[in-house]
Amino acid sequence: MRLILLGPPGAGKGTQAQRLVQKYAIVQLSTGEMLRAAVAAETPIGLQAKDIMANGSLVPDEIVVGIISDRLDQPDMKNGFILDGFPRTVPQAEALDELLKKKHIKLDAVVELRVNESALLSRVETRVAEMRARGEDVRIDDTPEVLSKRLASYRALTEPLIHYYSERRKLLTVDGMMTIEHVTREINRILGAIGAVDEAKAAKKTAKNTAKKASGKVSAAAGKPAKKGAKVAKKATVAAKTASKGPKKGSKKTSAKATPKAAKKATRQATKGSKGRAAAKGTKVAKKVTKKRAKA
Ligand code: ADP
Repeated sequence: MRLILLGPPGAGKGTQAQRLVQKYAIVQLSTGEMLRAAVAAETPIGLQAKDIMANGSLVPDEIVVGIISDRLDQPDMKNGFILDGFPRTVPQAEALDELLKKKHIKLDAVVELRVNESALLSRVETRVAEMRARGEDVRIDDTPEVLSKRLASYRALTEPLIHYYSERRKLLTVDGMMTIEHVTREINRILGAIGAVDEAKAAKKTAKNTAKKASGKVSAAAGKPAKKGAKVAKKATVAAKTASKGPKKGSKKTSAKATPKAAKKATRQATKGSKGRAAAKGTKVAKKVTKKRAKA
């Protein structure tokens, strides 16, 4: 499984990534962690990144793209990965598209954790307090001042990725304001619905869900008795639910527009299976990007 986790600082990307790592035996690639390690080890990249990170700005795209490119070539990537904190800008996303294409890797989905901005400061404050209580080093950029800079940079440079990936039919939005447990469950459900989860595990889950449905828990569409029908309905319900969350105050219109499309697509996928089409579309998208770049 190959995923990107998208969301502002404090959205819970790290927490959810760890859970996904355990469940699916995949690797978490956190550019923030990698850069902090480079800073601590005082490598040339670390020395370059140190001050930039301390004041909440973004490290240059070439540096992070280089780190990720090297990392994707490591043998432990074969089961899959979760990108956490990367891409963070549209040029990074374009570079990632090129990298994945070159390395013949297919991205399954981009999971956006959507949270109210007002909750973020207190979440980060809680994280700081917990780290202090455990006697751990507190991140130098976890102060209210730097956090507001990180948030501003998220809004200006990273939020456009929501539109970028919804246009490419990759975006799945999850309400990040629920409990950690709930968010995990929702992510797993959605991944199951798009078929990103390992077939055997997915089959088990579907069997469980079908049993639940039989007890009359789901929408009218799910009332079809055949197993396949129930599966299709389930996928459509999950996608529709995701789409119906809509943007919270302040978020871009585009994500609201794009998510119903994702719902439609999930339904289509559920009905027919999408491997061939997704591959064809991937090529088309890559071509488009190349054309666009050539023009530029
Ligand atoms: P956050 O909780 O703010 O998402 P991260 O641990 O992901 O924190 O990142 C910490 C810092 O590392 C960022 O503020 C930025 O300076 C740098 N960084 C991490 N990932 C990237 C990236 N993809 N591009 C540029 N800078 C990055």
